[in-house]
Amino acid sequence: MDNLNRKRIYIALLLLTVLFFTVILLGIRYIQKLDNPELTYRIFGTFSFVLLAAIVIFLVAIGILVLSLLQSKDYTAANKMIRRVIDFLFPITLFLGKLIGIEADKIKGSYVNVCNQVIKTKDFSLKPEEILILTPHCLQHAECPHKITIDVNNCKKCGLCPVGDLLSIKEDRGVELIIATGGTLARKFIKEKRPKAIIAVACERDLTSGMQDVKKIPVIGVLNQRPEGPCYNTLVDLEKVEEALEFFLERTCEIDDSQRDGATDSI
Ligand code: SF4
Repeated sequence: MDNLNRKRIYIALLLLTVLFFTVILLGIRYIQKLDNPELTYRIFGTFSFVLLAAIVIFLVAIGILVLSLLQSKDYTAANKMIRRVIDFLFPITLFLGKLIGIEADKIKGSYVNVCNQVIKTKDFSLKPEEILILTPHCLQHAECPHKITIDVNNCKKCGLCPVGDLLSIKEDRGVELIIATGGTLARKFIKEKRPKAIIAVACERDLTSGMQDVKKIPVIGVLNQRPEGPCYNTLVDLEKVEEALEFFLERTCEIDDSQRDGATDSI
C-alpha cells in the first residue's frame, strides 16, 4: 500500500468519526422532540450544544489538515489544534476502523503517515547533533552478544543486523543514535539528550503511543519490518531513515542558500 492510501485511511476514519458524532447529535435532537420535560431538555440541550461545538472544531481541524497535506503547507497557528484533534479522535477512529474490518496496524500505520506528513509541512534548520535516531532493541540480531543498549558503539558492524548501518549513519552524519529496550528507557534518553527532532523506528503500536507521548518534539516515524515476527530480528528501511534525516537537515542547506543569496543581494 502506498503512502497516499495509508494517509487516506486515517483521514477517512476521522471523517467517519465526525459522522458518528453527528448521528449521535441527531439522535439526541430526535429524543428531545419526542419527550421534552424541563430537566431532560436542559441536560440534552447542553450536551447537544457541546457535541455540536466539538463537531465544528473537528471539521475545521480536519479541513485544515487536508488542506495542509494537499498543499504541503504549514498552518502553524492551527497545528496544535490539528494534533490535539487527531490524538483525541485516535481511540475512536481505531474502534470504528476495527468495527468496519480494518486491521489495527493499518489504522496505526496510517496515523503515523498523517503525523509524518504534518511534520513535513514545516521548515527545519537543525544541526546533526540535535537529531536523535531512536530505535528498538529488536533490531539487534538475537544472537549478537554485544551490549549495544548500554553503548551503541559496542556494535562491531558485522552486517548481521541493521544496527551496524545505523551506527555508520551516526558516525558519518554526527547525529545521536539510541537503541532503547522499551518506552520508559526511550523517554529517559529523550529527557537526557533533549533532541530538537526525533526519527523514531518502531512497530505501529509503539510508534503511535510514542508519537502521542512526545508532543513537544517533532517526530518522524519509520515503521520497522518484521520478517521473523514481532520483536525478533526486525529490520528497517535505511533509505527512509536517511530520507527523514535529510528532511531535518536538508532545509538547513536550502535556508542557508537563500539566506546567503539574500545577504549577497543586500550587499
Ligand atoms: S551489526 Fe552490530 S548489533 Fe548487529 S549483530 Fe553485528 S555486532 Fe551485533
